[in-house]
Amino acid sequence: MDHGAGGPWVKWPGHGDLRTFVDGLAPDELVAAFAKALTYPRLGGPAAAAARRLGRLARAAGTPEEQQALAGAVHACLAALSSAECRQVDHAVYVLGMARAEEAVPALSATPPTHRARSCALVTHEAAVALARIGSPAAAAALVRIAGEVEAGRLPTRRSCTQCEEQVALALCMLATPEALDALLGLTRTMQELWQEKVVHAVARVADQRFVPFLLELCAGPRRAAGLVGLARVATLRAAPAMLELVRSDATDRRTHRLAAQALAALGPRAAYVASPRIWENRGASPRARRAFAWILGRALTPDAGPQFPEQLTELLADPDPTVRAAAAGALARLADPRTDADLLNALHDPDYRVRARTATALGRLPRTVDTMAALAHVATNDPVRCVRSAAHAAQWH
Ligand SMILES: [Zn+2]
Repeated sequence: MDHGAGGPWVKWPGHGDLRTFVDGLAPDELVAAFAKALTYPRLGGPAAAAARRLGRLARAAGTPEEQQALAGAVHACLAALSSAECRQVDHAVYVLGMARAEEAVPALSATPPTHRARSCALVTHEAAVALARIGSPAAAAALVRIAGEVEAGRLPTRRSCTQCEEQVALALCMLATPEALDALLGLTRTMQELWQEKVVHAVARVADQRFVPFLLELCAGPRRAAGLVGLARVATLRAAPAMLELVRSDATDRRTHRLAAQALAALGPRAAYVASPRIWENRGASPRARRAFAWILGRALTPDAGPQFPEQLTELLADPDPTVRAAAAGALARLADPRTDADLLNALHDPDYRVRARTATALGRLPRTVDTMAALAHVATNDPVRCVRSAAHAAQWH
């Protein structure tokens, strides 16, 4: 297929073959073709394919020939951006970012021309991430300055663009310097429309204590998963009541339930103090909640935790629900407290085969004693259920 507009010498193939075609070009041909595609409005597809290959070249930092080609591409992008002819601004900006072209910082952080500014703080939305990729002090400073402008644009009279806000937030997460986090905090405080999942997850991965109100707010809405991931990272007691509520409630979906339990377990031994009184307070809590509490205690406790916690777990070994008893056995084994060995050995005679199998596996992880080895050998031969015998057998030889 001939797109005609490809210039006098490049005959671009159809969309499906673009990548093969672009990969077949010599580096200098690639740059020439890319430079040409930048100035033609209908060559978005070819420009994107060429930009992606240039991006791969930049990552690999290959042969001198490839490096020279990359320098040529940077030059072409800068020339295109400074002229009114550029039709593929995003692809040019992408290549500048991937090539870490420090000389592009002024162009990338320039104030957008008024005719296309609407309320955008960026030349193009790609520019924020490109600046983060460049990552030089000048690029970082420019990004922080733009973040300040986006934040200040949040006045009742002038709504700024949500995309600008999201892209700058994403870029600040990539930088993750103290200054970038300060700027990011400012943006989260003025966020008016909920950001995309990808952006809030990026924030959750760099969040510190100051972001707790933001993360808690996320927990109350559709971006709950990101909020919980962030809270698990920050490990703050302030979030514990909300997490407990999610773990206890039957209305919590499975993913949220798991993430809330992880956020509680991340508190370490402190989680035991928060979570354990609730076990006794909520005898009527669902088996899922009791199972989660056992799991949390097993993760959160260290062997030097207070003596009351293993006791609480051994009480859960007597829970009416077999899956709770199994979870308690697993948690006790993680705790590896010699005082609870006898309770675990008893659990090998539990009426439910799942509890026996889980206990056998759990005992295999504990330091070997004559008693546990004898008990495991007995179960491996005599238990009526095959998977329990297998678990006990495996546990002896771990
Ligand atoms: Zn914008």
